[in-house]
Amino acid sequence: MQSPTLIDSFGRAITYARLSVTDRCDLRCVYCMAEDMTFLPRTEVLSIEELTLLGETLCELGVTKLRITGGEPLIRGGIIKLMQNLGQLPLLQELCLTTNGTHLAQYAQALKDAGVDRINISLDSLNPERFRELTRFGDVQQVLAGIKAAQQVGFKHIKLNCVALKHYNADEAPDLVSFALDEGLDISFIEEMPLGRINSHGREAEFISSADLRNKIGARFDLHAIAHNSGGPARYWQVNNNTSRIGFISPHSENFCSSCNRIRVTATGKLILCLGQENSADLRAAIREHEFPEVALRNTLLNAIVYKPEKHDFDLQNETQILRFMNATGG
Ligand code: SAM
Ligand code: SF4
Repeated sequence: MQSPTLIDSFGRAITYARLSVTDRCDLRCVYCMAEDMTFLPRTEVLSIEELTLLGETLCELGVTKLRITGGEPLIRGGIIKLMQNLGQLPLLQELCLTTNGTHLAQYAQALKDAGVDRINISLDSLNPERFRELTRFGDVQQVLAGIKAAQQVGFKHIKLNCVALKHYNADEAPDLVSFALDEGLDISFIEEMPLGRINSHGREAEFISSADLRNKIGARFDLHAIAHNSGGPARYWQVNNNTSRIGFISPHSENFCSSCNRIRVTATGKLILCLGQENSADLRAAIREHEFPEVALRNTLLNAIVYKPEKHDFDLQNETQILRFMNATGG
């Protein structure tokens, strides 16, 4: 039985939830985290059982697609068990993962066996020094090995994600597209969002619009817009007869809120109704502080959904409106 569904006060049906399973990470990407981060005590983070209950309840309320993210989900203890639990939910149509790829070579097969359909892998540069600079100590070879392993085990869909920063990696966009085309993968370029106070760069100084990126890519490839709609914020382009889709996620330059179908849950069980607003509800309290957690969780979700804001309100001049870092929110 799949009723009642989560419908907000603007008539948008919520069918997609992103769950962050940890705020921790083995990298420190300059746009995502400060160099010096304090992470949550483990008791504050939802357990594997609590995350499973959350996934199950969301599906009963009409969610058909779950994305597991973080922090880095593949460093969370019990991650394969969680994926196995979620992979068995009868109402779930798509189980997805977003990862930085550093541990993917090790886990690709187990994730596929658990029922993961789609994987997004972050890749901001192919150049080893630049990759290290952007992630503060990452090794791009590990990520490339992870991508290869994911291709070998045969996920339904693999997409690369690149956050484009004007002076770090924007000039590499055509090379990243070339890599995606050669490998038969999709790639999305994301405008940086002002989440959390960072110290490496000014967000405004590093801003490059999706249109400028398309011009850079268009100087090497014959790009044309396509009608594909993944139900999310990306708009897509293609190169001639190539099957790879090139997406652009443009929270600043091309607002996408009117069709938003998603919610996020942080590692501590805070329901985030919009990435760019502070409205939230405490799902962990519903689970931990009630005699019947299934009922309390369901009611909390149904009561909260009407507070989903109409739209985000990012403003690069006023840099940090949202104090949550992306790793805490779940990208
Ligand atoms: N660690 C995993 C990864 O890097 O793919 C999953 C979590 S990460 C927070 C999810 C996505 O958010 C990544 O693609 C990352 O590049 C993106 N991201 C992080 N901080 C961002 C920001 N300030 N603006 C836009 N995207 C951001
Ligand atoms: Fe870690 Fe992902 Fe954030 Fe990079 S973007 S620091 S890999 S959580």
